[in-house]
Amino acid sequence: MVAPPSAGFRRLLPLLLPYRRPLAAGGVCMLVFVLCWPVLAWLAGQLIPAIGAGDFAKVLRVIGLALAVFMLQKLAQFGQDTLLAAPALQVSQELRRGLFARLQRLDFAVLEKLSAGDLTYRLTEDADRVGEVLYKTIQDTTPSALQLVVVFGYMVWLDWRLSLATLLLAPVVAVLVSVFGARVMGAAERSQKQVSELAGLLGEAIGGLPLVRAFAAEPWLQQRFEQEIDLHRRARYRTQRLLALQYPVVGFLEAAGILAVLLIGAARIQAGGLDAQGFSSYVTALLMLIDPISHLTTNFNEFQQGQASLRRLREIELEAVEAPDRADARPLGTVQGELALRNVSFGYDPGQAVLRELNLTVRPGQVVALVGPSGAGKSTLFSLLLRFNTAQQGQVLLDGHDLANLRARELRQAVALVPQQSSVFSGTVAEAIAFGRPATSEQIHRAAELANAAGFIEALPLGYNSRIEERGTNFSGGQLQRLAIARAVLGNPAVLLLDEATSALDAEAEQAVQRGLDRAMAGRTVLVIAHRLSTVQSADHIVVLEAGRIVEQGSHAQLMVQGGRYRELCERQLIHLGPCG
Ligand code: ADP
Repeated sequence: MVAPPSAGFRRLLPLLLPYRRPLAAGGVCMLVFVLCWPVLAWLAGQLIPAIGAGDFAKVLRVIGLALAVFMLQKLAQFGQDTLLAAPALQVSQELRRGLFARLQRLDFAVLEKLSAGDLTYRLTEDADRVGEVLYKTIQDTTPSALQLVVVFGYMVWLDWRLSLATLLLAPVVAVLVSVFGARVMGAAERSQKQVSELAGLLGEAIGGLPLVRAFAAEPWLQQRFEQEIDLHRRARYRTQRLLALQYPVVGFLEAAGILAVLLIGAARIQAGGLDAQGFSSYVTALLMLIDPISHLTTNFNEFQQGQASLRRLREIELEAVEAPDRADARPLGTVQGELALRNVSFGYDPGQAVLRELNLTVRPGQVVALVGPSGAGKSTLFSLLLRFNTAQQGQVLLDGHDLANLRARELRQAVALVPQQSSVFSGTVAEAIAFGRPATSEQIHRAAELANAAGFIEALPLGYNSRIEERGTNFSGGQLQRLAIARAVLGNPAVLLLDEATSALDAEAEQAVQRGLDRAMAGRTVLVIAHRLSTVQSADHIVVLEAGRIVEQGSHAQLMVQGGRYRELCERQLIHLGPCG
């Protein structure tokens, strides 16, 4: 990820603007809550000497009054907490919503280099932590700070000389807290990074468990995992140790401070500057400072940890997103489905070409098979046709329009992808086919029919409402492929990009998929990354790609006669083919 940007919770403030009203109402409650403290301290000043003097009637009166003040204060606290919690939680939800929207728009190059586990951690744990800090800042830090100011103000009013002495300790505490805070933030950042890495490894491991078992690599994976969690534990321990040191140090200073105040207070009473009542109120008020100070210390630490999380969220925001459509992008209209490559060159890293000077025209309705060894650039070519990537040189045209001048959304409606892996989302069958597009059930049924999927779907107990589990584990490979075909044809695209599965299906499933494909392909321009001889043979045109160049093209018969790369690929069975003829 990019260098850590400076991040501040201040940036989140605009998000709070829409909640001015509940915030203001919560603020009023907070004020009532906080102002009750000096009143209570004053009442304590009345109560303690009255107890000492045995004035029972006064004691009763003061206790009654104190009860009423406590009640008011707790009511105000309830109002404050509920009124302020809602906006704080809304903002954290908004933050997460924005991040996910950003994630969906990230540039493909960026997406591919990010680990799913790391991203998941950022969007769950880091976002949670930021939300928590935001919540605490509004609902706990602010009233605590206010309480500190108000109660201390009351103490100054009672006896400013004594307060001045009390204040002498404050800078020491403040410096200590901020020194610890900076170190806690650094430690927290390292610890969070470690958890992210753990999440990345977990994501990879869970996906690859069958493979791991197949290679009996469990001990190796276990060891890798144990190394990661060990690093994680160490990083966490460093944070905890800092906190463990900070609390007693600050706590001791507090205790020393209170004792010092008692000492100076006794001297002030001796000198006649303060009476017993005032001193009782003063000490009560002093005790009322402990709670907010400890809250502020804790929150400050959490705030520092939250800063680290916010910074990690901000990194996502700074990653490049997909280039927006041009302002003068032209509407696509009805698409015939003619594809053309004009001298197209592309490399993921500039200077390292993956596709080189490709020239190709595919007429509407034509089926073109792309063959070539792995790494030849076939998938990359698809990514250009969907404008996931943009050619550095040359043009990719649909019906004569440069893709760069079209709207990505319209382009992707006209060009549909059937990916190699079963890539169906969990949800109902109907949802998987519609995939977020507004479609009537007739349209969904028709798409399923075209993909030769209607038969098996209707045989399911719940039909189109049957649930697909995560990663489609309750459907067979052939069924998932047919669902993917149905999903692709639902929008009636003019162009189909088909990445034929390399994994072999059994003959029956294969036939079922093939029938679906035949129907789905009819009347469309099709580019297929072909692995099966039957597909290649039935194509109108074959393009052989090697190291990013078109090295041969023609029909199967022509290319076999020609006896070049294609024939060689075919004979060495690199195209997963049946017997070559
Ligand atoms: P094919 O589909 O023919 O197997 P690809 O288009 O996947 O080939 O890959 C072509 C070349 O581009 C390979 O050398 C591959 O390593 C490289 N490549 C593919 N995707 C990326 C990527 N996201 N970033 C960098 N290089 C990539």
